[in-house]
Amino acid sequence: MAYINENYLKLPGSYLFAEVARRVSEYKKNHPSADIIRLGIGDVTLPLPQASIDAMHKAVDEMAHAETFRGYGPEQGYPFLIEAVRKHNYTDRGLDIAADEIFISDGSKSDCGNIQEIFAENSTVAITDPVYPVYLDTNVMAGRTGTLKEDGHFEGVVYLASNAENNFCPALPKEHVDMLYLCCPNNPTGTTLSHSELKKWVDYARANDTVILFDAAYAAYISEPDVPRSIYEIEGAKDVAIEFRSFSKTAGFTGTRCGYTVIPKTVTAKAKDGSRHPLNALWNRRHCTKFNGTAYIVQRGAEAIYTEEGQAQVKENISYYMENARIIREGLKTAGITAFGGINAPYIWLKTPGGLKSWDFFDKLLDTGNVVGTPGVGFGPCGEGYFRLTAFGDRENTERAVERISKLKF
Ligand code: PLP
Repeated sequence: MAYINENYLKLPGSYLFAEVARRVSEYKKNHPSADIIRLGIGDVTLPLPQASIDAMHKAVDEMAHAETFRGYGPEQGYPFLIEAVRKHNYTDRGLDIAADEIFISDGSKSDCGNIQEIFAENSTVAITDPVYPVYLDTNVMAGRTGTLKEDGHFEGVVYLASNAENNFCPALPKEHVDMLYLCCPNNPTGTTLSHSELKKWVDYARANDTVILFDAAYAAYISEPDVPRSIYEIEGAKDVAIEFRSFSKTAGFTGTRCGYTVIPKTVTAKAKDGSRHPLNALWNRRHCTKFNGTAYIVQRGAEAIYTEEGQAQVKENISYYMENARIIREGLKTAGITAFGGINAPYIWLKTPGGLKSWDFFDKLLDTGNVVGTPGVGFGPCGEGYFRLTAFGDRENTERAVERISKLKF
């Protein structure tokens, strides 16, 4: 008799975007001619940078000849990509990260989801609320939580409310936590922490023997100087923080798949006998056992974004999305709707007008404006009464969506 991992049964049935898709398809069925504009799912729409395309074509050709063919590569990633990442995102910025502290992967979702495996099962977990659901769900699956309570919180998880009242900088946990997930720039709120705010979290982690799991998937969108691009800009972070990065939103790799995780060898955690162990070694062991490397062709495509032309192309795409963000932000403001984010991130987090609940606003927007967004409550109970719009659409549709929203009466 095989038994299931019953922790999976604790998770609510329908995943947020599946429910969004269900409601949209239901609406379409009843209104077949509706011209629906989607500003919901956080997926890019612009093609890959030409530099990446060229590099991948070349890599495909290498695969066609015995002399240049590549089979399994190093699980941790090819040195050419590790060195490019290291130089561009760390050493050139004065951050001392070694090559064997960077692990190339098939994207950040796997890394953010899998990292919990190297921590003890009884570790306490803190997440900001609302947040990217992967951190919580993977810990539920691993049995680090109790069941889902009526208020939408899982038992045993420390939720750190992040809202307009605290300017999206949650208060530090009152209790001790072992693992602390931070996402900056934040999905879904599009807000960020300043250097001094992030320093408080690093100080907390150092004082409490906590490991910070810092998701910087949107670092490339930061425009303001006081927002850290990497947690290692904060003094002391190298002893307590793991950083996740992705090529997905940086360079349009959502379908191509490449990311990386940085684990300085100075980040350690305890065994039951009190001995301390570097997490780098544990992750390396996991990575080599369960992962067989990202495709050579994809790694060549990722490397190409660090060339001069690659950088120019990436910046152009990001500017395009951030202009959409500006249009949404300013359009909402003109319409009298309070909104946050959209300056250092491609997400705009609006307060639903008229005190509507997130899903009620979703239905109203779909029904009367034919615009699709994402209900804030889907990212955590504190997202109730908020709504996420993304800047990843095309310009014309973004402008049309904003025009429609501004004509709505709430
Ligand atoms: N982290 C955050 C905060 C995200 O929003 C996303 C994707 O939406 C990811 C990680 C996953 O990125 P990847 O495409 O690299 O798996």
